[in-house]
Amino acid sequence: MSIQTIQTDPPVVRQWRTDFKVIMKTILKIYLVSIFVLLVSGCQKEPTATITNGDNNGTETTTTAVQTSPSQQQTQIPIFNIDTNKVEQVDFIKKSDQQWRSQLSEEAYQITRHKATERPMSGIYNTVYDQGHYTCKSCNTALYHSNNKYDSHSGWPSFWQPIAEENIKTISDSDGRRVEIICARCNSHLGHLFNDGPLPTGKRHCINSAALHFVADSSDISR
Ligand SMILES: [Zn+2]
Repeated sequence: MSIQTIQTDPPVVRQWRTDFKVIMKTILKIYLVSIFVLLVSGCQKEPTATITNGDNNGTETTTTAVQTSPSQQQTQIPIFNIDTNKVEQVDFIKKSDQQWRSQLSEEAYQITRHKATERPMSGIYNTVYDQGHYTCKSCNTALYHSNNKYDSHSGWPSFWQPIAEENIKTISDSDGRRVEIICARCNSHLGHLFNDGPLPTGKRHCINSAALHFVADSSDISR
């Protein structure tokens, strides 16, 4: 003889069981949605870098550029092309300290990468007034023209304006006493900017010869 028993839970227990399943499903849904949101927001985060540009008045403007990956770190900047007579977007030139050192003479390296200054009257372009233009020794960007060179009696090549404002950047020294001039395309230190130059600008771009390379005009055509 067998005894058949039918086990039935009380209604209260069945209700608890149903409620428990609903709660667990809700928790699981919230958990999965949270993971999805975290993954999406994590993919959208990108590092930012700050680039500072200056002008000849010693004022500085700051812009923010987005860098998305190492392969996209090549920054495009506007540079005046003396051959095409146009401002063009070109790659900013970034090299390692070792690469600059191997490319430049020791004097040019110390001046352009470590802000050294050549002795007054010692530079090869101090008293040169031949027709032509001066490029950055480090990256060949056209910086100054002989038409804007004058004798400041300072002992360094002096210009009252650059070939194009886009091709240089100015940065106020930390103590605010001097304004540094650097090449806009490769950040090489060139010299300093003073306000005792001739008209029409009243500016004196006091530049180290060792930071420059002279390119003589091949014809009488000059800017
Ligand atoms: Zn340069």
